[in-house]
Amino acid sequence: MRVFCASVATETNTFSPLRTDFSDFSQSFYAAPGQHPETPTLCSAVFPALRKRVQAGEIELIEGTATWAEPGGLVNARTWARLHDEVLDQLRSALPVDAVVLGLHGAMIADGCVDCEGMLIEAVRKIVGPDTCIGVTFDPHSHLSARRVDNADIITVFKEFPHTDFVETGEACVDLTLRAARGEISPVLSVFDVHMIDVLPTSRAPMRGFVDKMLAFEASGQALSISTIHGFMAGDSPDLGAKIIVISDADKSAGDALARDLGMELFSFRGTTKPEFLSVEEALEQARNAKDGPVVIADVWDNPGGGVAGDSTILLRAALDMNMTSMALGTIWDPMAVRLCHAAGEGAELALRFGGKTSAFAGAPIDATVTVVKVAKDAVQSFGTSIVPLGDCAVIRIDGIEVVLNSNRAQAFSPDLFTNLGIDISDRKVLVVKSTNHFHGAFASVAAEILYAAVNGPYPNDPTQTQYTRLTRHLWPIVPAPFELETT
Ligand SMILES: [Zn+2]
Repeated sequence: MRVFCASVATETNTFSPLRTDFSDFSQSFYAAPGQHPETPTLCSAVFPALRKRVQAGEIELIEGTATWAEPGGLVNARTWARLHDEVLDQLRSALPVDAVVLGLHGAMIADGCVDCEGMLIEAVRKIVGPDTCIGVTFDPHSHLSARRVDNADIITVFKEFPHTDFVETGEACVDLTLRAARGEISPVLSVFDVHMIDVLPTSRAPMRGFVDKMLAFEASGQALSISTIHGFMAGDSPDLGAKIIVISDADKSAGDALARDLGMELFSFRGTTKPEFLSVEEALEQARNAKDGPVVIADVWDNPGGGVAGDSTILLRAALDMNMTSMALGTIWDPMAVRLCHAAGEGAELALRFGGKTSAFAGAPIDATVTVVKVAKDAVQSFGTSIVPLGDCAVIRIDGIEVVLNSNRAQAFSPDLFTNLGIDISDRKVLVVKSTNHFHGAFASVAAEILYAAVNGPYPNDPTQTQYTRLTRHLWPIVPAPFELETT
């Protein structure tokens, strides 16, 4: 059996002041055919999963490009055209194939193309014809269009947020796609539109139980696969919002019924899924008064993983004003300040302006006399088994606070973000990270306490206030009772 695979992924915040170019893909992750590393990246876990099948003698694999850009703003038209053409050309030269497996994110929007993944899957379908099986993986923070569902045979989505199960999701996609290509199963997709957009962390109730229920249903054979699309509120897409996908084995009515039941249960959770969000001052005060450390404070909305710059200074300025000590913050994106610190060298004291440069809503730059504690070329942090590049970094100290400045935008995934740069986190009272919930997986085991600080900034975190221009469906919380409006 001949199988082609490729991975093109990013998450587009259409409200971000950033823009995404090919250089953002090449800087974050770009592997030419055959060059994918042994370890998976978030959206390319199908590559190692398929290579295992090659080693088992099951398939012949033709690898295409695998690339990922850190979430950012609108992808420019020439970059999307280049990536799209590159993968489709690779597929054409791989023909004939029995199956195609794509590792996608699902929230990529380019200048002139609001549904990049739908366009790609449809183009793949046109090339391979109706009888070749197409399997796709998505991140739950994505927009599920009819175009994607109509052209894919298998769709699997990370169930966990934080996405600790991206390897399992890639393996499930590969398994189902190969079984379908061999004619062992007849997958049928059922989709239910939940008509809501919310933040749905699965590390806590009620979503924890909901994910466990999906896993139990899969294990008991009620469906081949069950997925929840959470939606991505910073993307102006006509397909915005939560959806349930059930893949049944040739039983559309059972799949439809299960998708509907799960969808209405998810809808009943609206407004109850988020942890308590504190103000900046509340979070800092609570951390300062905590008996044990380190207390981890998440700056939830200045999350580069959601496509903003990650250079907000609002929380840091409040901490400086409150004379906080024994605190480390990671990271503030500022390549120019990193360069100055590298030029000054470790141990140098200098007057530095850093942060607050890309948005009018992320606080003013901070001007301070800082000590350069550490400089590092090509620093990294880990996210599960994947390695996330931070680019050249500098650790600076201002009063009692150490700040990690990075030159590759990246949200905080793991404590090694600090420890790789020589910061002993067991010794710090407070750690501030820029991440909505992905940090939780690796920080939970080292944190005495975790606090979530909601700092208004450039991220559009309140759908009732966001100016969506493409939405034609009714969604909670923009309307209180969307299903009533949909049926009238
Ligand atoms: Zn996600």
